[in-house]
Amino acid sequence: MLSFARIADSIRATSKKLEKVAILGGYLKQLPLDQAAAAAVFFSGRPFPAFEEATLQVGAALLWRVSADVAQVSEGELSAHYRRFGDLGDALEAALGARLQADKIPPAEEASISLLELAAAFRELASARGPAAKAVVLQRILQRAAPGEAKYIVKIILGDLRIGLRESLVEEAIARAFEQPLAQVQRANMMLGDIGQTLGLAAKGKLAEAPMRLFHPLGFMLATAVESAEEAMQHFSAAHESAAIEDKYDGIRAQVHVGEREGRREVRIFSRTLDEVSGSFPELVSPLASLPGEFVLDGEIVAWQNGRALPFAILQQRLGRKKIAAAHQRAAPLAYVAFDVLYANRDLVIDRPLSERSVILNGIFAAPRLAPAEAATAPGQLSFFAESPTPPQAEVLRAPVAQADSAEDLDRLFDLARQRGNEGLMIKDLESPYTPGRRGGAWLKLKRELATLDVVVTAAEYGHGKRAGVLSDYTFAVRDRADADRLLNIGKAYSGLTDVEIAELTKFFLEHTITDEGFRRQVEPLIVLEVAFNSVMKSDRYESGFALRFPRIVRWRRDKLPADIDTLAALNSVFEREHSS
Ligand code: AMP
Repeated sequence: MLSFARIADSIRATSKKLEKVAILGGYLKQLPLDQAAAAAVFFSGRPFPAFEEATLQVGAALLWRVSADVAQVSEGELSAHYRRFGDLGDALEAALGARLQADKIPPAEEASISLLELAAAFRELASARGPAAKAVVLQRILQRAAPGEAKYIVKIILGDLRIGLRESLVEEAIARAFEQPLAQVQRANMMLGDIGQTLGLAAKGKLAEAPMRLFHPLGFMLATAVESAEEAMQHFSAAHESAAIEDKYDGIRAQVHVGEREGRREVRIFSRTLDEVSGSFPELVSPLASLPGEFVLDGEIVAWQNGRALPFAILQQRLGRKKIAAAHQRAAPLAYVAFDVLYANRDLVIDRPLSERSVILNGIFAAPRLAPAEAATAPGQLSFFAESPTPPQAEVLRAPVAQADSAEDLDRLFDLARQRGNEGLMIKDLESPYTPGRRGGAWLKLKRELATLDVVVTAAEYGHGKRAGVLSDYTFAVRDRADADRLLNIGKAYSGLTDVEIAELTKFFLEHTITDEGFRRQVEPLIVLEVAFNSVMKSDRYESGFALRFPRIVRWRRDKLPADIDTLAALNSVFEREHSS
């Protein structure tokens, strides 16, 4: 682990992507394969390969307590270090370093724990039940570790090394180390959901043999915003016959996996943040399982009644709840509207054009549904149905597709979509492949309002009046395009969220404070909001050079990650558009 830590430090020390890849590639290449596989998983910021369901279940409070114990400092002293770095791993390294210095112990020259030992220890930690048992295992791991090792062990537990290394760069490093095509490495990793196993296949030149493994999420294809039908049509050159047009449903994006596992039919639903959310939508499981075959679908979960979508606010009432009671289900009946297919009939179909995927998707919906007996439910769901004898029926449907050849066609379809209560239109290139995790020009989204922006909260302040006791005023930022880690504030807003959401966010921000300034707290940039505004102004109030006029919070985007927020370039283009017309 010591060499892992040293390599991680040098990857952190350079901001150049190519150098990061070269350092990592060189390191992975010289390790024995089993260790290199473990290192690849850890460098992706995970204790376990992505497809595995095992989670460490180590809460922040436990991690803080054990860290303070191991460094023999109080939690207050550890907080002082934390405030310097905004990261518990770095704080622990500093605290341990200070302790060793005080005790006049020279820095370690040899690793105290090997990569394989750490992998085994993580498994032990995952299977330990309850905080007391977990504390014992965690203490044992951290006690042996040198400060630099402990730093990265904690970062892996927290799920982010913060060294400017995404999993995509680990893929690049593997391609480079074993001289394999990057596209093959990416494809194998996507199918396996295991960067370590991918490394093993790359080393043996057997990437093409990677089998598809269901029940781990693949990346989502993303859309680019356009402001008008004319702008949308410009994206479709003469080379393209026409575009596929679908309504833009205002719900929650969801990827659905259905197939056999251990002799039973199983359904898993994943959110855009790649979290499993099947438990939040229990009534979808059975209708999804009734679709025949093994497949991965992309679609939107919406509140749905009488053949049309209900406003997002209705769906919102049941989001974020740990337990979904029958009353929530009745208040917000669901539908899953499928608009794409990524895998079907033992074939990963993402490289096929949308026109072909569309035919495959139609086939899944046209085939006779399986009887309920054959259509099992996700684990843990049966008790729910026993408790509620008449859960509302959820619907599963294929999004209707229209064609448009002109801006006039699009405008007409847009109005129809709005009349049906949907947000606008999605305009998709029929010849495009499905590109997981990427935003390109192949999918366009057309909404009416001036674009809203997705931003991340960087600071929270106590409000006034009845909000004096809660953190209700949020300063928010977009990201710098060139340097994704750099956040630039653009405004502050306090209206738009419900009291329940503000209470939840207050708790969250208190637990994720970087600096406590009394009335105001700099917080870890983790919460994504969608904000609307009247206009964009140039302003020197913020480092970004811009400020929003009358910003208001449209909604808390639980479904988006900080990496998904808008860029300064997007803000600039809103400014340009606004001031050029
Ligand atoms: P936005 O959330 O504004 O970035 O818009 C993109 C989102 O629109 C996607 O992530 C989906 O959740 C949603 N969406 C709704 N209907 C569709 C559709 N027919 N095709 C693709 N995405 C859709």
